[in-house]
Amino acid sequence: MKDFIEQHKHIFKLVCGAGNECEQDVERYTALYSKAGATVFDICAKPEILKAAKLGLKKSGILKDRFICVSVGMKGDPHITKAVINKDKCCECGFCNNICPNNAIVNNSIIEEKCIGCSKCSNHCSNSAITMVDKDIDLNIVLPELVSMGIDCVELHATSELDEDIWEKWDIINKHFDGMLSVCIDRLNLGNKQVLSRLKKMLEKRIPYTTIIQADGIPMSGSDDSYKTTLQAVAMAEIIQDANLPVYILISGGTNSKTAKLAQICDINYKGIAIGSYARKIIKPYIDRSDFYNPNVFNQALKIAKDLVKESLI
Ligand code: SF4
Ligand code: SF4
Repeated sequence: MKDFIEQHKHIFKLVCGAGNECEQDVERYTALYSKAGATVFDICAKPEILKAAKLGLKKSGILKDRFICVSVGMKGDPHITKAVINKDKCCECGFCNNICPNNAIVNNSIIEEKCIGCSKCSNHCSNSAITMVDKDIDLNIVLPELVSMGIDCVELHATSELDEDIWEKWDIINKHFDGMLSVCIDRLNLGNKQVLSRLKKMLEKRIPYTTIIQADGIPMSGSDDSYKTTLQAVAMAEIIQDANLPVYILISGGTNSKTAKLAQICDINYKGIAIGSYARKIIKPYIDRSDFYNPNVFNQALKIAKDLVKESLI
């Protein structure tokens, strides 16, 4: 993976969702975006999901230069929270069914494996009937299994305010995996100074240029395709760039088809763009269809995905 990154000006990473535990979704996202030119696929740290992503790559017919990154969230990380509806408070208005970006609410009930923890439903429920609940994993058990199945990168979502938790997970990841690591970090809980001091400490364990910093503007905020939406993602990348760390910078958290253009206008020296919410949203009408792999349907979705990848690789 390092060689591939070195040899390419920019890469496109498709974020399936660190909390997306739906095998069908992940297989289809991976198949479609692999065919569209994405090279890195970010999935949740679960063996079943890794299997699904590998099947997606196989279905795309492209296995060379395709890399799978498993994302590890931690307590307090919105990416791994799950929505829970309190039926006593729910008046069954149906509002949340329509705003969920991942089709994870059907008939006022959450399909847990599809919930990506974006909080849109809980923020908009007028009855305060939805709460977000953390879902942690035992890394010492899961990671060795994933490594034995074959992965290319492990990403830690290092946004929590709980320093001890970060160091513990970072140690476990470094112990079990000797390939490329990625650190996804944002400023929601931490200020600029804390972000940089945390990253510097994490990098003490790393050989130069074996780490990606995924500069997360505003996590899971990229559902609109405007410059304003992607502004914080580019701003966060600039903060990492100015610190001159021996890392590759990926822009994320509010990314869309405008990100590459804005990053270039702002002279950001980035290695790639990671897109989740927006990349999934634009193909949403196709992804749950029973005839998804019908060439007519697949090719319509493929054209949309290809345009986004092309605009991101300028
Ligand atoms: S928006 Fe709230 S009240 Fe309405 S269906 Fe959803 S959970 Fe129930
Ligand atoms: S709106 Fe977001 S948090 Fe709520 S169920 Fe859908 S994916 Fe989960």
